[in-house]
Amino acid sequence: GFIGLGVMGKSMAINILKAGYELTVFDVVQGNVDELVKKGAKSGATPSEVATQSDIVLTSLPNAAIVEQVFLGENGILEGMEEGAIYVDLSSITPKSIRYINEMAKKKSVSVVDAPVSGGAEGAEKGTLTIMAGGEKSSLEKVLPVLNCIGKEIKHVGSVGAGDTVKAVNNLLLGANMVAVAEALVLGKKAGLDPDVMFEIISKSSGSSYALTAKYEKYISKGNFNPGFMVNLMHKDLQLAIDTAKDLNYPLLYGNVAQQMFEIAKTENMGNEDISSVVKIFERWADVEVRSEKNK
Ligand code: NAD
Repeated sequence: GFIGLGVMGKSMAINILKAGYELTVFDVVQGNVDELVKKGAKSGATPSEVATQSDIVLTSLPNAAIVEQVFLGENGILEGMEEGAIYVDLSSITPKSIRYINEMAKKKSVSVVDAPVSGGAEGAEKGTLTIMAGGEKSSLEKVLPVLNCIGKEIKHVGSVGAGDTVKAVNNLLLGANMVAVAEALVLGKKAGLDPDVMFEIISKSSGSSYALTAKYEKYISKGNFNPGFMVNLMHKDLQLAIDTAKDLNYPLLYGNVAQQMFEIAKTENMGNEDISSVVKIFERWADVEVRSEKNK
């Protein structure tokens, strides 16, 4: 079963179907379900109905509140699951939330694996995601053939919640790096550099990062901010890192600054744009635009 057929979920579900698995799907947006049904999936009327038809149910949903509702709520996944079934959450949520879900699932002898992913829309499409999995090793082994359809690098990182913790740390780095890339490129442009020249040399220098190489040519240089990975989701992911740090009495300087930039982007109606759109805020402050001459 697969629930949540958005930017990530749709491609992941398609790859599972392509590998020959029978798949029952659900999403609150009917159009997303229809697309999968056209490709050979069955549709379930509720998450619970998906679960009654599945040994393994995977979800890729926007946030912890929705994951909890879809798993534990009325007509939720747990209601339809049989003893011995396995639930795999591919979303990025708080470790606390997935541990709570695990406690509830245990009462019904259902296993939980938190398996957040990295690699963006492109990785989901190509089936080359990195997957950081928390849970019992034996549960992970059972779902591994399915995860192999969507990911290339799959690593067991600890007990339930460890996957989401690794993901929070990873996205703290992505968020902070994205903001740093935006600030730095705008400085270079303001100081008179050609953005393409800057990119060409910095992408081969010590200042390079995934945020630079994945986001300059495809997004920033073209002024194309269709996601990709949305500002709203990045803002949420930084909150996961901030909450984790708060619980541990650990200060989080870059995480909080980066989140404020995505907060500004949200207030400026850029919540559904790609995370690289933060560059527009710096551009306005500097009165320049970091666009490639090739795209003018
Ligand atoms: P998305 O908003 O495109 O997809 C979420 C899907 O869930 C949508 O199709 C939506 O209709 C569906 N949905 C919402 N509420 C629902 C409900 N109650 N029941 C059933 N379906 C419901 O988001 P996305 O970009 O695909 O991200 C999904 C998860 O993966 C998030 O947790 C995100 O943080 C994580 N993630 C995203 C990326 C990325 O690059 N987009 C990368 C890694 C991880």
